[in-house]
Amino acid sequence: MVCNNRCVFCVNSQVNAAGRRWVSKERVVAEIDRAAARGYRALGFLGGEITYYPHAVEVIRLAREKGFVRISLCTNGRRLARKEILDALIEAGVTRFAVSIHSHEADVEDRICGRKGAFGEKLAGIDNLVRAAAEGHLRDGVSLNSCIHGLNWNRLTEMARFFRARGISDMRFNFLRPEHQAEGNRELVPRLSDALREVLRLVVENHRRLRMTITFGDIPVCLWPPSFLANAAFARRYIGEFRDLDTDVSEFRDAVVPHRFNWRRTRSATLKARLPVCGACGAAGICEGPWTKYVALHGADEFRAVALAKGAKEAKGAKGREVRAKGAKDRKGRQEGGSGRARARGNAARRKPA
Ligand code: SF4
Repeated sequence: MVCNNRCVFCVNSQVNAAGRRWVSKERVVAEIDRAAARGYRALGFLGGEITYYPHAVEVIRLAREKGFVRISLCTNGRRLARKEILDALIEAGVTRFAVSIHSHEADVEDRICGRKGAFGEKLAGIDNLVRAAAEGHLRDGVSLNSCIHGLNWNRLTEMARFFRARGISDMRFNFLRPEHQAEGNRELVPRLSDALREVLRLVVENHRRLRMTITFGDIPVCLWPPSFLANAAFARRYIGEFRDLDTDVSEFRDAVVPHRFNWRRTRSATLKARLPVCGACGAAGICEGPWTKYVALHGADEFRAVALAKGAKEAKGAKGREVRAKGAKDRKGRQEGGSGRARARGNAARRKPA
């Protein structure tokens, strides 16, 4: 739970000083052992700032030795400005970095992070990552994770252009979860329908010029234009709900046993709103609905039941079938004592961080 940022919308920022302490190495190792024994082969670390964790290199190395083939770190990127820290993490076994950055403008990013100078450090870290990836040291690449919030929603295209020019080719935009200082705050939480106009402008720019991998999350399906949803390839390419894989989470709080849950199911059940219109919606089951605290702030008049086109439903089904098929192939490979590479591919497809 330790972090060198105090982001205005991060639940971690609400933890008091006494609550900001690291989980012991022994507890992390036990959880990695448990996940490895259950056949997981993809692992992600997030929450707090992993690059500050005193045992980061040790537990990453251990995870690699236990057979995890995809090890990703979600980081604010500031410590990666120091190349020796990045090199040690890569050498230990990290295969992918996802850097949280929420603006291409220094004053906005520093304000969001609650730290003066954060933007400059993040850029230096991103530059180091782009170089490491270009040299072939990051098999699963580098991505940026950005929130769509009140200070960037109308400059998403400019933001993507800025990072494309720095060598980034993979960005994920999630609509802000209104927590902490963002809860009830109209300056930080734009209306979804306003943000979506800019999202679509970015999609057009991406097709015309940027040619990046760009995906969006936490935007209810009914906000997307019907013509977009009718195009299965578009839906699968851009809308998180149609492409994201399940993630199982082990969260360390004070209890001895970690809190374990499926992120998508928990998020749907506890953080997202099920509106009256959702009951008759063809996207129910794919769409999680808006954040509950978004509805408390902006109301529910933007949402409407949709009759999801057959192609869009198939996009979701195809992804699920693809994952299940890979999982089944992997299980068969293990039973038959298949090669390590086959096991790695199958399990990586499940992408279930412990
Ligand atoms: S009506 Fe509800 S379930 Fe349907 S797309 Fe909108 S938010 Fe999602």
